[in-house]
Amino acid sequence: MVKAPELEGRVMPNAGSPTDPWAQVAMLVRLIRTGEAQTRPELAEATGLGRNVITLRVQAAEAIGLIRASGAARSRGGRAADIWEFTGVHHHVLVATVDEDGFRVVLANLDLTPLGESSVEWTLSDDTARTCERMAAQMETLISDHRSPTIWGIGLGMPAPVDVTTGRSRDPVIAGAKGIRWPRTFDIRRWFIDRMKVPVWVDSVSNLAALGAASEPEAPADLVFVRLGNGVGSGIVSNGGLHRGADSLAGEITHIVVSDDARRLCLCGRSGCVDAFAGSWAIEAEARRAVAQGRSPFLAARAEDGLGLAVVVAGAESGDIACAEIVHSAAEALGRGLATVVTWFNPRRVVVAGNDLASSPLFRHILTRTLQSQALSACIEHLELRIGPGQAAEVVGGLSLVRDALLAPSHLAAWAPTGSPADFGAAVLAIG
Ligand SMILES: [Zn+2]
Repeated sequence: MVKAPELEGRVMPNAGSPTDPWAQVAMLVRLIRTGEAQTRPELAEATGLGRNVITLRVQAAEAIGLIRASGAARSRGGRAADIWEFTGVHHHVLVATVDEDGFRVVLANLDLTPLGESSVEWTLSDDTARTCERMAAQMETLISDHRSPTIWGIGLGMPAPVDVTTGRSRDPVIAGAKGIRWPRTFDIRRWFIDRMKVPVWVDSVSNLAALGAASEPEAPADLVFVRLGNGVGSGIVSNGGLHRGADSLAGEITHIVVSDDARRLCLCGRSGCVDAFAGSWAIEAEARRAVAQGRSPFLAARAEDGLGLAVVVAGAESGDIACAEIVHSAAEALGRGLATVVTWFNPRRVVVAGNDLASSPLFRHILTRTLQSQALSACIEHLELRIGPGQAAEVVGGLSLVRDALLAPSHLAAWAPTGSPADFGAAVLAIG
């Protein structure tokens, strides 16, 4: 364990306040990590702190292994100033994302560089605690496969809205058609804190994906990430930060009503939602109906192998009319929902990613056309629409969620005096 130096004036009741020395360390680490200020004179100018204080805080950040000297700045005479850079290579975090078909666990360092990952097919209708146990075992295998580094924190992405303060599911429907339930009473964060003994943060995979998209270079401050899956999730980044909403339910684009077709029943109990057209469960139900009504030779020939989304997308590309109609309706429904979102929220970028729909040329064409025809033209004039694979975004988002939480002034002020968040104690860090 790295022993952090004592800082004068450290008073725990003020932890995280701007005058707390460790909160000042957190501020310098953020400026150095983002490249906003990288030398002592730049840090002094950016923060208004005195040179001597800057020197002490930089030493403290170096001692806990968050920054390192990377050379000297050019000088116009006098001694050249050291350039500092963020380094997270010696600190490790884990991210696990849960989906309708299984889960994925990634081990990475605090620089967000993945070091190893594993995916497990898993039916989430299985017992919740058993699912968590399986995930934890997968995490422990990854840890031991990589020489057992100390883990600083864990990020969890769930396939439904999550109350980030309680770690509990907010959604009455997770993936009903497949019988998937994640009980509202189950506190997954507390379970992992107790099991893994490190700080844990939990959010929806859609929010993590939005965070991942927002952390890309040159990412705009206002964006929406639409995640295609069993349902259609979305995450909203507003003015550079995640917008979760008053009840952690922001982004439920899948339950925007886009049709008055009463036959399109949704899992939420209403009808005509985006979900009832573009959720993979709805597409698969439509495929079964097309076969039963003898409308799709393509699907009928493949019915014995199962009528998954990939088969429907392949059918649409091969010219099967019923398959094309299903993909067309999914794209049109999502396009209508997205037009409302874009007109109301005015994002600079929309990313649509996830399952096989995103790689279908027909889906992309109809979605784009519907959005262009139904959104306010001024709102799409500068809109960048990206449709394609994007599963990496949720892992990057999960890693940055954990990193940013660990390095936030209030959290860093709490754990830094002991040298490691793992040593400080998980329970305290994980609250709030
Ligand atoms: Zn609905």
